[in-house]
Amino acid sequence: MTETDLTEQARRLFAGRVEFLLSAPTLDFLPDPDVAEIAFAGRSNVGKSSLLNAITGRKSIARSSVTPGRTQELNFFEVGDPTALRLVDMPGYGYAKAPLKVVENWKRLMRDYLRGRQVLKRALVLIDSRHGVKEVDREMMKMLDESAVGYRLVMTKADKIKASELEAVVAATQAEARKHSAAFPVLHVTSSEKGMGIAELRAAVLEDALIG
Ligand code: GDP
Repeated sequence: MTETDLTEQARRLFAGRVEFLLSAPTLDFLPDPDVAEIAFAGRSNVGKSSLLNAITGRKSIARSSVTPGRTQELNFFEVGDPTALRLVDMPGYGYAKAPLKVVENWKRLMRDYLRGRQVLKRALVLIDSRHGVKEVDREMMKMLDESAVGYRLVMTKADKIKASELEAVVAATQAEARKHSAAFPVLHVTSSEKGMGIAELRAAVLEDALIG
């Protein structure tokens, strides 16, 4: 399939059925592992809800948590009819005021899900273009390396900084990616606000679900 075909196929798929399936506070609540899953991870406020909304072309399929650091569920969304893939919204991390117990629970839920999920084809780790890779992002990336889950790094809010600054942060993030065994070497640069990089990311998600 050519890249144009894949982009068009992805556009059509995401323009069709997209539905919230369930929230899983523990692994007991996970849906049956019968469909490819792509997980979205990132620090609180990185722009994860906005990106999920942009990819699915909906206004509010994913909602940012009112109190950052409090959402401890994995949220599953189904795409396609019949379901072609699931998007998994992982709880935002790195909220400074989150109680230790919440952080511990979060880590356990993440680790168990990432290690045991056969249908998880890929993760996307979102990085705020204004901030670059932070220590908590490195921890997430390490957890994915250890779980042998391949991941793409996605720069968010690219419209918020100057082109020269963006170039520098992309270079630094690419250098960081090279240090991680499960990270893809090529970054995605996106702006949910401006629609930049969204069609390409949609195609990448579909590609990962199909062959990853
Ligand atoms: P989440 O906590 O990771 O789900 O983050 P949200 O999607 O709620 O976004 C956090 C804040 O960043 C909100 O105020 C958004 O409007 C803003 N934001 C998200 N994506 C973009 C973007 O691409 N460009 C700009 N300028 N702002 C964005």
